[in-house]
Amino acid sequence: MLRVGLSGGIGSGKSTVAGRLAEHGAVVIDADVLAREVVAPGTPALAELAAAFGTGVVDASGALDRAALAARVFSDDSARATLNGITHPRIAARTAELISAAPSDAVVVHDVPLLVENGLAPMYHLVLMVDTAAEVRVERLVARGLPEQDARNRMGKQASDAQRRAVADVWLDNSGTPDRVLSVVDALWADRLVPYEANVRLRRYASGPPEVVAYDPTWPQQAARVAARISHATGGRRIEHIGSTSVPGLAAKDVLDFQVAVSSLEEADSLADALSDAGFPGLGGYDDTPRYGDRSEWRKRLHAGADPGRRVHLHLRVEGGAGWDWALRFRDWLRADAVARQEYQDLKLELSRRHAGDADGFAYGESKEPWMEAATARMASYRDGQTS
Ligand code: ADP
Repeated sequence: MLRVGLSGGIGSGKSTVAGRLAEHGAVVIDADVLAREVVAPGTPALAELAAAFGTGVVDASGALDRAALAARVFSDDSARATLNGITHPRIAARTAELISAAPSDAVVVHDVPLLVENGLAPMYHLVLMVDTAAEVRVERLVARGLPEQDARNRMGKQASDAQRRAVADVWLDNSGTPDRVLSVVDALWADRLVPYEANVRLRRYASGPPEVVAYDPTWPQQAARVAARISHATGGRRIEHIGSTSVPGLAAKDVLDFQVAVSSLEEADSLADALSDAGFPGLGGYDDTPRYGDRSEWRKRLHAGADPGRRVHLHLRVEGGAGWDWALRFRDWLRADAVARQEYQDLKLELSRRHAGDADGFAYGESKEPWMEAATARMASYRDGQTS
């Protein structure tokens, strides 16, 4: 099962996108619909709302008077907290129930207007964000019958574009005609969501082209999103972006490498299922090349990302061990030392040309070894304040 979060500002076109995904076969869970369901006439939640805010929030037919409730909580934080305390746990329970009722090979799309505001992004395998310019959204909402001032008030309370961009794995531009965004959704379904779901279910990781590409300035933000997911799946362990994509300016294979700190390899093994379910299946023990000290300190567990649109490697290493420490020092040295960075980039570009036709990255990795070995000594002296 793949869990996809779908969000975007009011009027951006979430329902339009969700509808298309449902046509493809996704199981869509609409948070707005659930929010209405849990306070339907006769529900315990509605009785609690009446007890908390007075019978004025229930109309003559026994239904929730949304306008009256909205007026009560609009500028009163503690009233809003009371409201959320009554409704949120019930919406969450119903959401969990619907997710567990979905088939094991489902692509579950959770349409959540407040995904960003509520910090939900790390819970999903992938977050899709629908974007339309604010003025166009106002026009569309007015055309849908919402008074202009209401539309602007609601938009003003929602997350900013920058906050949305920070959590979006896929940014869907819906400023054109509907068929434009729908064809992008069609391609996303076929090229990414369907294979991603199969990979998660079958515990397969996604491979990709071996080429070294120019430094991508969006790598740090992409890494922050993936790290939040890994942290969520591992109960808040220390996660570091390491490897070539963590060094600003360095050309690299388009793979985000992370180090997950564990207290032992047994603990790493106990995290394997949670990581698999989160979209990072395990490959087992691919130990690092021992560079000094005790061999056992270079053992690790390797996991890799299942998303065909974003290659990820996770190295689970024992915190404080030589292999753990080396990965951080190598990164920090390359970040700090421009000469070393240039040399390493030249070497990688040369080796990736030489090994372009290889079936795997083994020979490429081996050819880097002499330079890496020398780098270990240079790193040590660099730390002591000398240049390389
Ligand atoms: P949301 O669910 O994000 O609030 P909707 O999907 O309901 O947004 O879209 C808001 C309004 O804009 C709806 O009336 C919808 O039919 C219309 N709409 C959506 N996408 C487009 C588009 N690309 N061009 C014109 N109108 C659109």
